[in-house]
Amino acid sequence: MKGPRQAIVNARLFDSASGTLRPQTTIVIEGERITAVTQEPLQVDDARLIDAAGRVVMPGLIDAHVHVVATSHDLVGLALQPASLVGAQSSHILRDMLQRGFTTVRDAAGADFGLQEAVARGLYEGPRLFIAGHPISQTGGHADMRPKGVQGQGMFCSCAGLGLVGAIADGVGEVRRAVREQVRNGANHIKIMAGGGVSSPTDPIDGTQFSVEELRAAVEEAEAANLYALAHAYSPRAVTRAVQAGVRSIEHGNLIDEATARVMKQHGTYLVPTLSTYAALAEEGQRLGWSAAMLDKLQGVHDRGLHAVQLAHAEGVPVVFGTDLLGHMHARQSGEFLLRAAALSTVEVLQSATITAARLMRQEAHIGQIVPGAFADLLVLEGDPTEDLSVLADPARSICLLMQGGRLVRSSL
Ligand SMILES: [Zn+2]
Repeated sequence: MKGPRQAIVNARLFDSASGTLRPQTTIVIEGERITAVTQEPLQVDDARLIDAAGRVVMPGLIDAHVHVVATSHDLVGLALQPASLVGAQSSHILRDMLQRGFTTVRDAAGADFGLQEAVARGLYEGPRLFIAGHPISQTGGHADMRPKGVQGQGMFCSCAGLGLVGAIADGVGEVRRAVREQVRNGANHIKIMAGGGVSSPTDPIDGTQFSVEELRAAVEEAEAANLYALAHAYSPRAVTRAVQAGVRSIEHGNLIDEATARVMKQHGTYLVPTLSTYAALAEEGQRLGWSAAMLDKLQGVHDRGLHAVQLAHAEGVPVVFGTDLLGHMHARQSGEFLLRAAALSTVEVLQSATITAARLMRQEAHIGQIVPGAFADLLVLEGDPTEDLSVLADPARSICLLMQGGRLVRSSL
């Protein structure tokens, strides 16, 4: 699509693929896409000029593990709310994510094609939304939100609350049907719960979920639709089974050991750590009324989160930016940059939220780097994030121009 021609001149471009800064770069944009990136002198008189004045220009950020419909930390209460209300509330979460510089997010379950369409049509302002629909969970698994004693699906029927409540599936046939339902409803990727979780009431955090045959069936159905599967898993046992079944990314992965990281490397699996949600819940969980059993599970994974990133990084596993925040804690999203700085270099952290995330999503031609053909999703920054990640931790101050698909979201230049 052709559209108005714009040119950003005097940019210090963050080349996310090489992890370097390129001085004196001109970026030409036509409509929603980038058409040229060059350090050569270029005739751009006919374009609307934006002078970056030597500032760093980087690709729009990608958060690869969010739940934009997690409008509250009370997931059971949320499951009972009408989808219309959840959708309206999630529009604020989407808007705030975009304002923090996240021009794309990968929703790790919950958002549906209606929300995706609302953003695409500009009804809601927000990041490009890649959706999973409902997560696939076994009975009593991480996305089975029923408290002990509740029989049947009843009010947890995955009809209210948008899609955070799991599509409960037991046995290969039901797993195939559940995955096909998400595909039918426009999923961009398939989320499977391959082990215990913190927020689920009845499962041990270090247990495994689904049989190997069920995991393989989920991956096979995802791949049949040209999609990929991502697995929620913490323990070496749960992670190893999911990786061997063929999932593309492990979400969280806090309890992995060296041998597990090596298996991930062998299979080309990505790790999406979500350190900020554990930091948030460690501070706030008790006040928010989380049960002692849930807080106990939380402590076990919180203590090991950073170590897991170090292990994965040491083995050469690609690490991607994720946050997994709930409710009001979404305000901590940009804090993830500093949390993972203890395990990765500043450039690697920037890559985790740009090119590496885009590769995980198989979208690197479109997002995560400033190259011809890609969407014009970019940030002009006050300060150099390759030297100091606190630049991105304070987006309200440091982002002086925010562009998404060639559209100026805000600018103080
Ligand atoms: Zn999550």
